[in-house]
Amino acid sequence: MDGMELPAIRSTCAYCGVGCGVLLRPDGQGGALVTGDPDHPANFGRLCSKGSALGETLGLEGRLLRPRIGADDTDWDTALDLVATRFADTIAEHGPDSVAFYVSGQLLTEDYYVANKLMKGFIGSANIDTNSRLCMASTVAGQRRAFGTDTVPGTYEDLEEADLIVLVGSNLAWCHPVLHQRILAAQALRPEMKLVVVDPRRTVSCDGADLHLMLESGSDVALFNGLLNEIDRRGAADEAYLRHVTGAAEAFGAAAEADLSVTGLAPEDLAAFYDLWIGTKKVVTIFSQGVNQSSSGSDKVNAILNCHLATGRIGTPGCGPFSVTGQPNAMGGREVGGLANMLACHLDIENPDHRGAVRDFWSAPRMPEAQGAKAVEMFRRVATGEIKALWIIHTNPAVSMPDADAVRDAIAGCDFTVVSDVTARNDTAQLADVLLPAAAWGEKDGTVTNSDRTISRQRAVLPPPGEALPDWQILAEVARRMGWAEAFDYSGPSEIFREFAALSGIAASFGKDFDISALSDLSDTGYRNLAPVRWPVSAARQGGRFFGDGRFFHPGGKARMLPLAYRPPAARTAPRYPFRFNTGRIRDQWHTMTRTALAPRLSAHLPEPFLEIHPEDARRLGIGARDLVSVRSPQGGAILRARITDAVKPGDVFAPIHWTAQTAPSGRIDALVPGITDPVSGQPESKAAVVAVEKF
Ligand code: SF4
Repeated sequence: MDGMELPAIRSTCAYCGVGCGVLLRPDGQGGALVTGDPDHPANFGRLCSKGSALGETLGLEGRLLRPRIGADDTDWDTALDLVATRFADTIAEHGPDSVAFYVSGQLLTEDYYVANKLMKGFIGSANIDTNSRLCMASTVAGQRRAFGTDTVPGTYEDLEEADLIVLVGSNLAWCHPVLHQRILAAQALRPEMKLVVVDPRRTVSCDGADLHLMLESGSDVALFNGLLNEIDRRGAADEAYLRHVTGAAEAFGAAAEADLSVTGLAPEDLAAFYDLWIGTKKVVTIFSQGVNQSSSGSDKVNAILNCHLATGRIGTPGCGPFSVTGQPNAMGGREVGGLANMLACHLDIENPDHRGAVRDFWSAPRMPEAQGAKAVEMFRRVATGEIKALWIIHTNPAVSMPDADAVRDAIAGCDFTVVSDVTARNDTAQLADVLLPAAAWGEKDGTVTNSDRTISRQRAVLPPPGEALPDWQILAEVARRMGWAEAFDYSGPSEIFREFAALSGIAASFGKDFDISALSDLSDTGYRNLAPVRWPVSAARQGGRFFGDGRFFHPGGKARMLPLAYRPPAARTAPRYPFRFNTGRIRDQWHTMTRTALAPRLSAHLPEPFLEIHPEDARRLGIGARDLVSVRSPQGGAILRARITDAVKPGDVFAPIHWTAQTAPSGRIDALVPGITDPVSGQPESKAAVVAVEKF
């Protein structure tokens, strides 16, 4: 039979938070053919370059096939016994906070749930954090402050129904390409639909935009305070909707103090933006890492939310603030409590009633009473020896964390490091005491949640190679060996999902938004066949938007507007480090390239690490096109290929994040980024370091 004639398996793309559906067909040669799922509500058959190359990344090149202790292969029992014993001994001697898990938005919800349950309910520490901390923790903090929960109010349909789309700190065309395609398709049908891009850099997303605001890095709070002030001054606030909101007077008062000169924008550009925003009823403001990865990231999020709350442009068709998440399951991680400051199902770790309910539900022996170490702080505690046993799952912090050289050294110096991954080749895996082979995308079953709250199934099309196992099973085996066999006696991901869904019903009884309790009695067959479904999924509510009815999740049921003041990026340029250093993704690579580097056509797009620098700066420094340049910050250095372009402003430079010691030893650019974080969200300021540049 021809491969194309085999029945297709429905699954979800391994990469970004758009969460596109894919159809997988075994190709009969150990791989799979991948096409877009025409019935999936995220993409309706579309795929971007990364998604369409997924089939080329399924080979076994570089795969970790057996557990290893040090450099030696071993068997699962020996490896798992060692992990359980070392974690148990460390906890017994130094307490539960002497161990930590650092996990990933690449995990499936069921894996994430088991990891969180083991750390928070049984080990009794909140020292579990996820690389999503680097991606959208500021959005979580901002939404919790404004809405009372971490709720994305709208749906993808809003992006097509809006009359004005504002992209803030988001290169949507490269980082969430299928959403960008949906917007362009809607614009082709309704040419009156406007697009504004707010970004210190001119990206591909600016092509065809009606306005590009090339603002000073980090000045978003001033920009949106200026908008809020104009809303107030022009009498454009929605007084009826403001009955559902507290703090408006204080927020308007703070906005009136905004100094717009810090944005560096011309008054006519500011006026054009404010006229367009205030004069358009249906506005969606999409924001991403340019907002989140900042020492004022939470305030930036709330500055955007303030404007939508003040005008009631939220929770109705074509209206709302819209956070787009980076990873395929960043949202699922938020839902299961994969962040060190949250419990499962959006319950609050510091609330004794919430803790008690989760403890009773899990029959847990102990629960932490306070937040654990967020990512940057977690690795600082590893460096000081406070954390002595560390389990890193599906992520590569030796490359991707800020101050990456210090993080690499901290992991190398940790008493005991376990890494679960699909490859032994990444920089972090090279530092592990124990390496555990995990099943990869295409080999495992579970669910993921995308940026508009749609839960989709990932399904296996291939068997795991060698001795690789799904992550939930590895975690459950360690839990069993640590003495908690009954609580982790799962027969498969469907049983984990049912337990999670039942817990969400308890969260709903506390008035929380995340409720999928209607799925708690899903049969194994029902789980196997589960079609994409947007939460909430309960007896009371099915999918849809939040907050159009003015009901929020704070006590008293009202939203909160916050009085905000602009704060500049924490690192200041100075004669020694005169350039503002921005970082980001490129179109065809994903994270530290573990998977995308396996597809030659993806690697061909932009094949080497580079630095974008303005022509005036290049001329002054004697840098010619394609010269190598040395880039140094107080934290570290890199050697990059110069790309001379006016896409960046004079004084700004930009470099992509993807290269590693394995793929380009001089191109690990997170080694240049300081571990400065937002004080509310703990998210690092990855887009506003300071550097010196010279010809190499
Ligand atoms: Fe995959 Fe994101 Fe591309 Fe969709 S837009 S195919 S989810 S990488």
